[in-house]
Amino acid sequence: MPPPSFFPQGALVSVLTTQPLGRALDYRAPEGGCFVGAFVEVPLGPRKVLGVVWGAGRGDYDPAKVRAVLRVLDAAPMGAPMRQFLERAADYTLTPLPAMLRLATRAPGLGDPPSMRRVFRIGSATPDKMTKARRQVLGALAEYGDLAFTLKELADLAGVSAGVIKGLAAQGALLEEDSPRDLPFMPLDPARPGKALTADQQAAAQALAAAVAGKRYGTTLLRGVTGSGKTEVYLEAVAAALRAGRQALVLLPEIALTSEFLTRVQARFGARPAEWHSGATMTQRRRIWRMVGQGGAQLVIGARSALFLPFQDLGLIVVDEEHDTSYKQEEGVLYNARDMAVLRASICGAQVVLASATPSLESWANAQAGKYRRLDLTARFGAATLPQMQPIDMRAETLPRDAWISPSLQQAVEARLERGEQAMLFMNRRGYAPITLCRACGHQIGCDHCDARMVEHRFLNRLMCHQCGETKPMPEVCPSCEVAGKLAAVGPGVERLGEEAAARFPQARIATLSSDMYGTARALKAEIESIAQGAADIVIGTQLVAKGHNFPNLTLVGVIDADLGLQGSDLRAAERTFQLMRQVAGRAGRAEKPGQALLQTFQPEHPVIRAIIAGDEEAFWQAQAAEREAAQMPPFGRLAGIILSAGAAAPAFEAGQVLARHDGPLRAIGAVVFGPAPAPIARVRGRHRVRLLVKAPKGAPLQAALAAWVRGLRLQGDVRLAIDIDPQSFY
Ligand code: ADP
Ligand code: ZN
Repeated sequence: MPPPSFFPQGALVSVLTTQPLGRALDYRAPEGGCFVGAFVEVPLGPRKVLGVVWGAGRGDYDPAKVRAVLRVLDAAPMGAPMRQFLERAADYTLTPLPAMLRLATRAPGLGDPPSMRRVFRIGSATPDKMTKARRQVLGALAEYGDLAFTLKELADLAGVSAGVIKGLAAQGALLEEDSPRDLPFMPLDPARPGKALTADQQAAAQALAAAVAGKRYGTTLLRGVTGSGKTEVYLEAVAAALRAGRQALVLLPEIALTSEFLTRVQARFGARPAEWHSGATMTQRRRIWRMVGQGGAQLVIGARSALFLPFQDLGLIVVDEEHDTSYKQEEGVLYNARDMAVLRASICGAQVVLASATPSLESWANAQAGKYRRLDLTARFGAATLPQMQPIDMRAETLPRDAWISPSLQQAVEARLERGEQAMLFMNRRGYAPITLCRACGHQIGCDHCDARMVEHRFLNRLMCHQCGETKPMPEVCPSCEVAGKLAAVGPGVERLGEEAAARFPQARIATLSSDMYGTARALKAEIESIAQGAADIVIGTQLVAKGHNFPNLTLVGVIDADLGLQGSDLRAAERTFQLMRQVAGRAGRAEKPGQALLQTFQPEHPVIRAIIAGDEEAFWQAQAAEREAAQMPPFGRLAGIILSAGAAAPAFEAGQVLARHDGPLRAIGAVVFGPAPAPIARVRGRHRVRLLVKAPKGAPLQAALAAWVRGLRLQGDVRLAIDIDPQSFY
């Protein structure tokens, strides 16, 4: 790499700020000069704002008025690959560059001087008497040479109480000192032995490790059923990145970031990695952001937004559960972290591993087309076998009103209870009941701000809108006809299913898992872990439980409504149902005991249900791919969604019509526009929403055409426009 350009004091530099200005502004380099990529503070009007030196100044502004950079911040400069990544991601998602920079600077207090904390390092005095605990402390420190640790870190590391450390410090055998709070993370050791891999796993691990050692870009789809050891395999790729002296990033859906997972990583590399997630404190975020930039964090495990951390030398990005919809950010900057991971890796010469039991059709097709390498793990590790899957034909079952557990499923659960095994009942609906109906007038209670029904959450004793999160107390009388005592819950949710299970299986310990029943993601994860240890006989859950948790004693999964995802007009409905059902089924029989999955369905002959039952994934993907190819839909064509929203319906609709009429730039690339039409959810948070859908041939320069198309539109009043490239959801 060429050395970064340096700008001496007074030279014109172009600074990109996080303010919505449209472009970078010229400033003069401060006293002492600055490098390209430096994080700086600059004056903007009366304010001081954060920015990055993006390059030489453009010189198109009155030189007499150009102001000076106030100061260079104490942070590693942003490297050229990162700047290029932000530019290309901005181009791809049609996002203004300052908004991309905001994503990349999501750590508080970047401009603050480092704060201090108390640490311990090895001292020169010999302690008066040597105990086992004291030897452990000194031994642990000797192993890490010069490093200093906080009281808690050192106590954990040596496995002793804080008192032992304080005792040693009092005698001068340890030195106590203040040091900057943002310390490097403990070094990870790739040379520690991993688990002995099976031949299958070994082959995949070696292929990935060799690719990482090659220090060039490449993407691998690592496909294997749940429990086949994908995690073990990609940890070997992480080891290869560490051996090559490069950094690694493992992206997980937020909910899969469990302490069970972190413990596994720690067992493999001897220390905890940096952990980037929504529950991290400001201090933790700041430390990770800084250390990633300085190379003081070798491995980050994180949710979606970790992709925008300022890695200096990234050699590997793992996207675990790559098909997961949570990788698509649906608010603010609309990006798909899986696709942006591939972009980032291609710029910095890194490998990408997309791991999944049920890949997205996009990734599957990219592997078919030879763009991605594909590695398959076919067997489950050890004795664990894939669960046996069977439909329960609901047309043949008799159920009382307001009951959802069929007699066949009930029997299967009872058999597990007798054997002391766990059973899981899965229903992808939060709350108690999706509809609250007045039996006097027929009114259904809806949200005041959205075009959606309010869902009863009996646990919270409130009604909740799943669109905007608005809640209100359960009314005593019907809001429409004001008759009392006639409001009835209609349809099932997990809470109601829990109630039914409690009545049917009075002896069993039942745990209902739904995100809104726990105050924090942490509390929920702790609950899931205790259930995995055996704290419940029957687990009732939503989508949450389908993600990555290991329940060794679970041998039955009952899917209450396998048809749920088949309804609706979503392009990906079949794919999602397939993935979700396979994942849920994958929860059963992970340890020695064989598992069974029972799917309650009214359409056992539906092609998706049949593919799930038969376990014939290739056939399912082939069929889906053929369908999409015939319709020229992604990944065989391209889509972009346009969402216009406004306080009133008419202006949003008018703007949509203007766009539809002036579709010249789109027609020029062979694209077509559908709409405007009211969005399926026509009102969210009090704003009316209108959608257009643009469909283009695969190779067409879609972004440029879209930019030219919307550039001509003058938005009136409070109308806002958002462009969603490769939309995942169509609400
Ligand atoms: P996946 O990521 O494909 O779901 P995991 O890597 O989590 O699979 O493996 C499932 C379980 O099997 C884990 O508990 C893991 O530790 C264990 N396991 C997988 N491979 C091995 C192996 N070669 N040796 C010992 N345990 C293994
Ligand atoms: Zn609402």
